[in-house]
Amino acid sequence: FDVYGVPIIGSNNVWKGVLLVFHDITELKKLEQMRKDFVANVSHELKTPVTSIKGFAETLMDGAKNNQETLEAFLSIILKESERLQTLIQDLLELSKIEQQGFKLNLQRLDLDHLLEEVIALLTGKAQAKNIKIEYNNFPGQVLIKGDIDRLKQVFINLVSNSINYTPDGGSVKVVLENNRDHVRIHVLDTGVGIEKEEIPRIFERFYRVDRARSRNSGGTGLGLAIVKHLVEAHHGNIIVRSELGKGSEFIIELQNENELLDGEIIGK
Ligand code: ADP
Repeated sequence: FDVYGVPIIGSNNVWKGVLLVFHDITELKKLEQMRKDFVANVSHELKTPVTSIKGFAETLMDGAKNNQETLEAFLSIILKESERLQTLIQDLLELSKIEQQGFKLNLQRLDLDHLLEEVIALLTGKAQAKNIKIEYNNFPGQVLIKGDIDRLKQVFINLVSNSINYTPDGGSVKVVLENNRDHVRIHVLDTGVGIEKEEIPRIFERFYRVDRARSRNSGGTGLGLAIVKHLVEAHHGNIIVRSELGKGSEFIIELQNENELLDGEIIGK
């Protein structure tokens, strides 16, 4: 609590008492702590690849470059860490853009079936590299909704990428589109490592990872699901997660399929 007092003085200048004002700052303090944690996390995440790039470049300059094999190995690490840095910066910029007040979706009529086909096509190579079967049964006909094509593509790229990343080699990933009277559901299912029940509410937090090493190895930034959550909420949609440890996970996105969203609607907080 933040407390301050104001004296109450009567007409003949005598003290009548003190007015105490109690200000509940729990929420403010929480926000301040979240901001501090975020800055600390960003700094740490940026520092790790930069330290590695600097270290390997210095070692090369100190003479390691004379050995062809070392040169190639170190350069490939430098490239991988730079790419990691680039992805992290892209995700941070994306998150900051969608968290801005007055952030606007570019709403238009779109065919969800077509959009999902595109997402699957984009990620087939990534799945093949892990010998993961990726499946999407074309929906008979179009499934029209009002949404932001690029943002929704981002949502499904993040979800399907996660399913591939957190599924061991040889597993499978499936996308199912379900069209109901007033809403559509997109299910992203995998036969992966699964998520413990207590962890499920936390995975949408910025930088939260159940297994940091696994996430890092798969090129994850820990921001993917935070971005998904924001974008689905901006579309007035819902996210449902079902998961069983060691068996697999299912992420369900529910969106309105009626034209309830107005063009140019401002999404702010
Ligand atoms: P990351 O870049 O680490 O994948 P995300 O925000 O996309 O970050 O996801 C947060 C965490 O949630 C991941 O680190 C992982 O622990 C967990 N997670 C996300 N999707 C899945 C999934 N399909 N199966 C198992 N765990 C998952």
